[in-house]
Amino acid sequence: MDLKNFITIVPDWPKPGISFKDISSLMENGEAYRFATDQIVEYAKDKAIDIVVGPEARGFIIGCPVAYALGVGFAPVRKEGKLPRETVKVEYGLEYGKDVLTIHKDAIKPGQRVLITDDLLATGGTIEATIQLVEELGGIVAGIAFLIELSYLDGKDKLTGYDVRSLMTY
Ligand code: IMP
Repeated sequence: MDLKNFITIVPDWPKPGISFKDISSLMENGEAYRFATDQIVEYAKDKAIDIVVGPEARGFIIGCPVAYALGVGFAPVRKEGKLPRETVKVEYGLEYGKDVLTIHKDAIKPGQRVLITDDLLATGGTIEATIQLVEELGGIVAGIAFLIELSYLDGKDKLTGYDVRSLMTY
């Protein structure tokens, strides 16, 4: 199945000059969603994953069905102020300004093997921050899976040394 057939490219959204890759049209198709999930499960199944971690919100859409299929848990990474218990946090740079991502302090036990998921790798800032949170808790990043990688933004340069899989590249 060519998953790119299920991605909608929205020109000039959210701002002029950006070619937005909309994955919701893939999610809305049961066969395509299952196929994409199965591809990531196939990638992860021999990595002895203990837990899946994904940043809000589209990282949940990818990570939760993968966690279910692997029979492991899922820990959400969220913007500051959203998680109710004690968290660790990391600041990361955006194009303009800064943002903060958090994870529950007890979400990952030291030595646990973690699969990180998100819909799309652009500049890599979001995933770099997610990796920092996982490693601060003593987790081992055993794999990182995306539906889409925007190779022209060179986000992969921030992930050198990690095992990365993207199902589609633009
Ligand atoms: P990065 O931190 O620059 O790698 O941006 C990745 C984050 O931005 C991901 O969590 C994506 O959900 C979101 N993102 C950036 N561009 C797109 C796009 O074209 N389609 C969907 N999400 C995008």
